[in-house]
Amino acid sequence: MYFRDIFGLEEVKRTLIHAVEHNHVAHAQLFAGEEGSANLALALAFARYIHCENKGEYDSCGTCASCSKMDKLVHPDLHFVMPASSTTKISKPLSQDFLKEWRDFALNQPYNTITDWLALIGAESKTPSISAEESRKIVSTLSLMPFESENKILLIWLPEYFNITSANALLKALEEPPAQTLFFLVSEKPEKMLITILSRLQRIRVRPFHDEEVSSFLEQKYQIDSPKAKQIAHLAEGNMHKALTLMQEVEDDNHTLFRDWMRLCYQRDYKGIYSNTEEFGKMSKEGQRNLLQYGLNMCREALVWKYGGESLVRLDNHSMQFVQGFSKTIGEHNIQRFYQILNDAMLHLDRNANAKIVFFDTSLQISGVIK
Ligand SMILES: [Zn+2]
Repeated sequence: MYFRDIFGLEEVKRTLIHAVEHNHVAHAQLFAGEEGSANLALALAFARYIHCENKGEYDSCGTCASCSKMDKLVHPDLHFVMPASSTTKISKPLSQDFLKEWRDFALNQPYNTITDWLALIGAESKTPSISAEESRKIVSTLSLMPFESENKILLIWLPEYFNITSANALLKALEEPPAQTLFFLVSEKPEKMLITILSRLQRIRVRPFHDEEVSSFLEQKYQIDSPKAKQIAHLAEGNMHKALTLMQEVEDDNHTLFRDWMRLCYQRDYKGIYSNTEEFGKMSKEGQRNLLQYGLNMCREALVWKYGGESLVRLDNHSMQFVQGFSKTIGEHNIQRFYQILNDAMLHLDRNANAKIVFFDTSLQISGVIK
């Protein structure tokens, strides 16, 4: 995670970088932001920046030895603590038992929630906590000297899950901080933490995202088209987790619609095509465009699958399955024509042609192309 991966929040980034430049980084900081905010993302980007051996004006270098370890979150001077719960495999879990899962979570889903985290470690519907055993582990970790950097960083995700015993151990560590140690506490509900702990922390308020920040993120990172990205951003109300979930739902719907549509075309099931067309006609204009756009994306992925191999396709399982099948009907001989048909359909919709006619006509043309 780099600062540049986080869309917006420039004011917070400036404050953090300024603190490093002026050598007054507080030894214990609270990244406080609601669910779906960039609190974890910022703490990770800041940890990278602090460890970076060749810091730039706005971000870490990305090439030094430290940065390359941060790419995988395996820097020896970055320690993690997060809530956990017993699973079928581990009855008294510590954070270190889930380091592999955590790295995946923090690297790929930094906007996800505690519910997602528990699901990932196989502890769905359990009550998470940070145990007293964990606190003892923290104290022994902190007694170590930094290995490679000037400071070691302990990042605690969701410290509101400390129980009273473990919280007191943390408090003690904060009161008598070991040398060369930085505490980053990343919280969604600081009001649930002990006041004595809060008073030891310098608070960094991480506001919810602005709508434009969410929509640019979706557009640039996920190639969502602008009107749809704006619509999702509006519904997400600054919560990036919600935005990503909504995006996934829209994708899932489009997937089912497009898959079923292509099957009808392939089977030349004209009766089915007709009733399908009626349904498409009832969708919003936005929805109709998105469906066609999804079709174009699938087309591209099918080609990549065919000529580039599995590793280049970035899809979830059910889309992947479809793409494998679809790539049998799409190839050099018809891809250009297929693209053209879908593009023309979009063009006609934009010019306010009757949607039912456009979709029916498009279906017939596709039937002729995929054999
Ligand atoms: Zn670097």
